[in-house]
Amino acid sequence: MVTSGERSGQGVISGVAGWALWRRPPRWIAVTLAAIAVLAGWTAVATVTTPITLKHLGILGLLAGLALAQTEVSRRIERQRRILSAGPHMNMTSVWLLPAALLLPTQLVTLLGVTLYVGLALRSWSGTRPGQPHRVAANATSATLSACSAGLVTLYSDGLSVLAVSIAVLVYFVVNAALTGLGLYLANPEEATAESCLGGMDDNLLELSTLCVGGLLVLVLGHEPLLSVLVILPLYVLQRSVLIKRLEELATTDQKTQLLNATTWQDGAQREISRAERENGSFGAMMIDLDHFKRINDTYGHLAGDDVLKAVAAVVKQETRAHDLVGRFGGEEFVALLPATSKEDAIVTAERIRQRVSELVISTRTNEGEAVDIQRQTASIGVAAYPLDGSSIEEVMASADAAVYAAKHGGRNRVVGSVALPEMAVA
Ligand code: GH3
Ligand code: MG
Ligand code: MG
Repeated sequence: MVTSGERSGQGVISGVAGWALWRRPPRWIAVTLAAIAVLAGWTAVATVTTPITLKHLGILGLLAGLALAQTEVSRRIERQRRILSAGPHMNMTSVWLLPAALLLPTQLVTLLGVTLYVGLALRSWSGTRPGQPHRVAANATSATLSACSAGLVTLYSDGLSVLAVSIAVLVYFVVNAALTGLGLYLANPEEATAESCLGGMDDNLLELSTLCVGGLLVLVLGHEPLLSVLVILPLYVLQRSVLIKRLEELATTDQKTQLLNATTWQDGAQREISRAERENGSFGAMMIDLDHFKRINDTYGHLAGDDVLKAVAAVVKQETRAHDLVGRFGGEEFVALLPATSKEDAIVTAERIRQRVSELVISTRTNEGEAVDIQRQTASIGVAAYPLDGSSIEEVMASADAAVYAAKHGGRNRVVGSVALPEMAVA
């Protein structure tokens, strides 16, 4: 006979067995559970060894209140940032967790960390990535462990000097980057890149700025606790500026290759032609069209084709200067405008690009998941110049396009300068 106690026990077991957590990669699960165990152990030891005073509870209440208020103020921004963010998502919890780490015993730091993340999950993130409590738990653990590690500086310093707070900021930043980066790497080792695991420059600057505000908050809490309300507006503006930067990026770049999209490239080219007109200057322009690219898709699948596009885009970017305008025009067509460059010099750059594209070995996978190395991809490049080949960007690019056509007819894998046609071709 099965008792109701046994039935509810089985219910709990089958509930736990159904958690989305178990569908994560095994190494991610192991590291996450280990981190949670370390935090739980650390908190348990602190609970037994460190007494809590009334002052501690006052600071905890103030930090939790401010944090929840800030979550409410920036709810919409936080949701949008989370939806649009590419790499690791930085949130602003460190501004509260750092002062907590320096002023409170570990058990209260953990309590604050859990409260903040549950608050964020319920109020800001719900609906953006539903059904993933294990991610919230992993993020809360990384942030709280970073805070507890930063708090260790108080063991080695008498009072909170500038040096101690600065070291705490650095420890928090490094431990958090390491834990979050490791988690993101283990979640998808095959596609992990330094940027996808560690975040871009802006994300990291945001995290560091937030920690600096947290460092200042330590001082405020020691002298005039209620003044800490003043950090809410700067934090909101900080968060909003990062969202605006991200929206700008999305509106101007091609997401597959990270080059300028066609509209932004045209706008830039238009500005360049106006400048060249004003200053009696000149520029070179090239159009790059991959050869028989359709065959790559047909043979290996679209995802492999996308990897080829990314690799070619990286070559074009590397072989041009920082101020050259490099864009993706259409499917497998790229454009580059080289300010203050003659047609001859642009042909030299184009030839370097052609050469490097033909030498690429792109390791990727077919749609069926089979590993392949794609090589011998080639490109035909047409080069034109302002004002030699036209007085508008449309005319110059039409000349470059005609030169691409000539390169295709000349046998592909070649660079053709616009007026010269095949006999000036560089094979
Ligand atoms: P040619 O040497 O004459 O230029 O031949 P081609 O096959 O490169 O040219 P075509 O214009 O016939 O084919 C271009 C192909 O590019 C067709 C299209 O499916 C593919 N393509 C366009 N955009 C993308 C993309 O974003 N990803 C992938 N994988 N393929 C794309
Ligand atoms: Mg084409
Ligand atoms: Mg093509």
